[in-house]
Amino acid sequence: MKKKGLLIVVSGPSGVGKGTICKEYLSQYENCALSVSATTRSPREGEVDGVNYFFISHEEFRKKIDAGGFLEHAVFCDNYYGTPKDAVMEKLEEGKNVILEIEVQGALQVRSHYPEAVFVFVIPPSMEELESRLRGRGTESEDVIAKRLERAKAEFKYIDKYNYILVNDTVSEAVDRLSNIIKAEDCVMARNYKFIEEEFIK
Ligand code: ADP
Ligand code: 5GP
Repeated sequence: MKKKGLLIVVSGPSGVGKGTICKEYLSQYENCALSVSATTRSPREGEVDGVNYFFISHEEFRKKIDAGGFLEHAVFCDNYYGTPKDAVMEKLEEGKNVILEIEVQGALQVRSHYPEAVFVFVIPPSMEELESRLRGRGTESEDVIAKRLERAKAEFKYIDKYNYILVNDTVSEAVDRLSNIIKAEDCVMARNYKFIEEEFIK
């Protein structure tokens, strides 16, 4: 039974653990890929171009927008971020699930072009825990942390645009929940009806 892959959009405030959960999920489940975004922000220590992000200049980013190369793009805390379209579409056509780990404005754009995607919003156990994770990561200066916490408050207002919330209390429980969401979505009638009709009804 040849089916298109699922597009899974994972959002949530900076520092909540999206990257950690997705990385762990991908290490356990093979038929899934993480989309590599383009960004104008500078690489953090240890980040590799083409693996964590495609680190590009503002000019290159603008050119790619003009060429229609992004599925979605947004500005987040003074930098551009965007999902390269072709790579995602190819994988979905091959039947592979694809995770987009993106912020809210981009997720809303995906929702309008690709409503069959699954939208998951990751929340921390509390705001105190979010702040402590963001600070504990040690990758941002205090003023960037403050901006990201402000942005987190704004992002929570869009939580009702998502299909699922995923509490990141422990990583293993959060990964199990994500896996359950994806397994259940794969069984949704509308996603399978074409096959059912061809095989059993026509
Ligand atoms: P995001 O991708 O959402 O910005 P990260 O995955 O970088 O967040 O996680 C932010 C920090 O929180 C990292 O230092 C990570 O190790 C830590 N972290 C992630 N999930 C948990 C968890 N369930 N419990 C405690 N710390 C966590
Ligand atoms: P970071 O700088 O911490 O890697 O990412 C900052 C924010 O940008 C996170 O919320 C992350 O999910 C989001 N992000 C990463 N890539 C993309 C993308 O391609 N598009 C959009 N809209 N947001 C992205």
